[in-house]
Amino acid sequence: MMETGIGNLGVAAMIAGYAASDDVIVDVSNVKVDFFKSNKERLENFISWLLNEKGCAERTFSVHLSFKDTSPLTQQRFECSTIELSTPALARERLHCLALSGGLDSLSSFIALKDHKITPLCCFVDYGQAQLEYERTSLAACKRKLKIPTVGFTIDLGDVSPKTNTGWPIGGFKIPARNFTILALMDRFIDVDRSVEGPRSLNFGVYAGEIMDKNHDKSRRFFDECTSIFSEYNGVKTVIHSPVAHMSKVEQLRFLEKHHILDFALANCRTCTSATKEPCLDCKPCFNRMLSVYRAGFGDRVRPGQWNGLARSNIVKEYESHVDDYTGERKDDIQKFLAFLVDSLYESG
Ligand SMILES: [Zn+2]
Repeated sequence: MMETGIGNLGVAAMIAGYAASDDVIVDVSNVKVDFFKSNKERLENFISWLLNEKGCAERTFSVHLSFKDTSPLTQQRFECSTIELSTPALARERLHCLALSGGLDSLSSFIALKDHKITPLCCFVDYGQAQLEYERTSLAACKRKLKIPTVGFTIDLGDVSPKTNTGWPIGGFKIPARNFTILALMDRFIDVDRSVEGPRSLNFGVYAGEIMDKNHDKSRRFFDECTSIFSEYNGVKTVIHSPVAHMSKVEQLRFLEKHHILDFALANCRTCTSATKEPCLDCKPCFNRMLSVYRAGFGDRVRPGQWNGLARSNIVKEYESHVDDYTGERKDDIQKFLAFLVDSLYESG
C-alpha cells in the first residue's frame, strides 16, 4: 500500500536523513493538498530542524519539499511513495493512539492512560532497528499481560542506502526524525470527524528527565510544534502528549510498583540499546536503568546476577572515572550505587 499524506511526509523525513537528501517529493494526491501547500515552508523548516538537531549528520540539512501532483519527478530526487509500508487497514476511529516499543516508558504510558480511563490503540513501528527481535518479544509479553490493542507498521527501506557520512547506519540506535515518523504513521487512526466530541491525542513515552532542548524530538518545542501541525492537518485539535512527562525514571518505577507490574516490567521490558538477547550491562541505558531501580528503592527486585554482571562491566569503570563530572544528588547516588555494586559482587563471592 502506498502511504500518502502526513504518514508519507513522516517516512520522507526519515529517508531524507538516511539518504542525505534535501530534495523530497511527497505524494499528496487526493489528500489535503491545501494543507501541504500552505504549510510548505513551515514543514521544510521543521524537518530540517529535526534532521539537524539529531547531531548525527555531518552536514546541515535544508530540506526542499515538493509534491507529486505539482512537480515532475527527476531521477536525482527521492520519491517517498516508492517506500513500501505494510499498513494495517483500520479506519480512523480512535481518539487516542500510543507508540509502544515494549520498553518501560511506553508500558508506563499505557498504564497512565488507562488510569485516565483511556485505552489507546498502540502502534509498533519496525524501521529496521537492530533490537527489533527483542523489542518484539517485549511487546508480545506486554500485549499478553495487559491485553493491549496493537497494530504494527513495517517500513521497508528497500534499496535506500545511507550515504557514507550521514551518521545514521540503518539499524543503528539513532534514527533520523524517528518520533515524527511514528506520530505521522499513528495519525491515520485518529477520528477526525468533527461531530465526534472529545480531545484527540497521539502519545509517546518521554519521561521528565528526557524533555530538554538538546533532544530535538523529545523537546518541548517538538511537542508544541507537532501539536500545531497535526491539529491543522486533522482539522481537529490533536495533542501530542507524553503520559509520563511528569515522572522521573525513579517515579516511573514506583508508579509501576503501585500498579503491581514492576516485576513484570523489569523482567520483560527492554532498555538496553545493544543488539544482544540479554541486556549487555555495558551501555549507558543499562547502567542508568539499574541506577534508577536502585534509587527507587527496589535494589532487591532485580534478577540475581544482573548486579554482578553490571559490577564487572566496563560501564562501571567509566562511571567510576567520570563520577566527578556529576554534581549534587546525582553524584551522591552514583557513588552509593557503585559502592553497592562492589558490595553485592563481594557478597556473591
Ligand atoms: Zn545494554
